[in-house]
Amino acid sequence: MDDFSTNRHAENLVKFDFVPPSPSRHPDLWFSDGNIALVAGMFYFNVHKGLISRNSAPLADAVNLRFSLLADASCLSSGIKHDAQDFDNVASLLRLTTKYCVEHIRKDIIRGMSAIWPKTLSAWEFREADATDPTGVYKPRAIYPHPILVINLARETATADLLPSAFYDLSRCAASEIATGYLTPGVTDRSEMHILSDDDLLNTLRGREHASRFLSTFVVNELEGRDVSAGCVYRNDPDPFRKRLCQATFEATTFEILRDVNGVVFHRSSDPLFAIMDADLMQTRSDSANGRLSLLHRACEPCRVEFTASVDAAREEMWHKLPGWFGITGLTSWP
Ligand SMILES: [Zn+2]
Repeated sequence: MDDFSTNRHAENLVKFDFVPPSPSRHPDLWFSDGNIALVAGMFYFNVHKGLISRNSAPLADAVNLRFSLLADASCLSSGIKHDAQDFDNVASLLRLTTKYCVEHIRKDIIRGMSAIWPKTLSAWEFREADATDPTGVYKPRAIYPHPILVINLARETATADLLPSAFYDLSRCAASEIATGYLTPGVTDRSEMHILSDDDLLNTLRGREHASRFLSTFVVNELEGRDVSAGCVYRNDPDPFRKRLCQATFEATTFEILRDVNGVVFHRSSDPLFAIMDADLMQTRSDSANGRLSLLHRACEPCRVEFTASVDAAREEMWHKLPGWFGITGLTSWP
């Protein structure tokens, strides 16, 4: 038996760098007033939809199906919401428009999704504020799709730009919750569980560890034993209590952050972006519900302004690092 009569020895075949030629315009069936472009084999055609539909039942079916799908996609994408309830519709549209390369509708859908899974820290703040009720309780799962659904959809549709914020969102859950997966509320059949791929499970846990270390480093470098500002108004105060007031404030802030590492106070465990911002906010809050520092603990204005700058810089740096921490490649851009 010669080797060309069978592909049983496919692994031994010589490989050629074969680039298929692009389709070219058909010499006859290209009408400038045609209203549908088709590709078949090595030719593309611009023809009249009505004529080919009347003369070929299979072509009529194919054309009508494609047109009705795209029309539905176009209508739906303009009115669709991107909350948890609408996620199945959003996911179907994204899959459909990706499969049929309908770029303009696909971009509309991704633009809508990126309000919840944004590329910028400022957009992330809006998203987080929208998920916080007037009493300060944070309930993202009530309004946003679960991040495991979004990560799996983004992988399936090659939409990498949604991944960094989705991975960060997921990394705030307990490790056991991340590994177990997500079951849609009301569904009891565990075979319906949405789980991450092995690679993405590792990416999430690795990124979670990076984020946690970033918070520890922030506490050590920016809070513990922080020097007061050169312009501290209490620097030369004769009263020993007031002279140490700003330092004592940063020590109390450190204690509050460490106390909340397990989410005891705000039920937001493993959320360094929030914890770092909260280190700043807790020094200015005065309401009894959220005022975690005693009114005795208030740094002077120059010290607080310097600390706010450190907080802003740390949070921007952290946001910038998310793709690397979670092993994400293929982004169109990232701040
Ligand atoms: Zn001061």
